Amino acid sequence: MSPPPTKNETALKDLEILASDTMQGRKPGSSGHEAARDFILKRFHTLELKAFSENYQQTFLFSQGFQRQTGYNLIGWLEGTEFSKTFIVITAHYDHLGKQGRETFNGADDNASGVAALLALATYFAQYPPKHSLIFVATDAEEGGLHGADAFVSAPPVNLSSIVLNINLDMLGIGGKRGQLHALPAKGQSTIKAWLKQQAPRYNFPSMNLRIGAPIPTRTQGIMNKVDWYKASDHASFARVGIPYIYFGTDVHTHYHQATDVYKNINHGFFSAALHTVQEVLSSLDNAPHSSTGLTLSQ
Ligand SMILES: [Zn+2]
Repeated sequence: MSPPPTKNETALKDLEILASDTMQGRKPGSSGHEAARDFILKRFHTLELKAFSENYQQTFLFSQGFQRQTGYNLIGWLEGTEFSKTFIVITAHYDHLGKQGRETFNGADDNASGVAALLALATYFAQYPPKHSLIFVATDAEEGGLHGADAFVSAPPVNLSSIVLNINLDMLGIGGKRGQLHALPAKGQSTIKAWLKQQAPRYNFPSMNLRIGAPIPTRTQGIMNKVDWYKASDHASFARVGIPYIYFGTDVHTHYHQATDVYKNINHGFFSAALHTVQEVLSSLDNAPHSSTGLTLSQ
């Protein structure tokens, strides 16, 4: 077992802010959602990420109930030092369920944790430039049906053929009963799966261990969880257009889509180890020979 990675205090603070009552559960159309958007955009500016469009935003229309609404994907990127025309897209949805009656669904794990991790990755790779170009997308309107990710692949800022991988982050903060972080490649991605399996033993910490593949079905509050993990989050939109992915996330747990998904229920040890793992895996992937990971270079 490896010693626990050090806590990333900035990432924990970002998570706390995104899951605070000020953000009101980040439901599209609410002022809390707008506050979350402003917060993420400010961080993109501070990090001096490159932008494809005005103020990092990609707007799109989607339906929520009977309403047509505008969604906002937030997109920044870093240019690769060696393979600048080949892109890896890192996604994490920043929307959540908002308020229902008197209750606020703060969505600390789902998915303030993924967005905080995305910001931490952007911070790291801004300091240690990657070989491949990295696009960071805080996606909108995932909860209503992957609308933001669909909008991104429908109108991508670069050629779809130059996007070789999606890394999707959704729920890195609690870890469920078993404390497992799952890295799930698409069905049929056997080369990257084999590569991940080779890497996995490095990511075995007291608070978290890395598993390659989907969580096995468990019983949560008496209900058998039969999530189709291949379709559960934004990576499904990338798969639909033929882009390989690795989805990092955890099994559902008692706080999933509950008002108790709050910052104080975040497992700091699990989150820190999960963030460290994603960063190291991405860094190794960026440096590995393409023959071992199965990534295809675009011209
Ligand atoms: Zn989610």
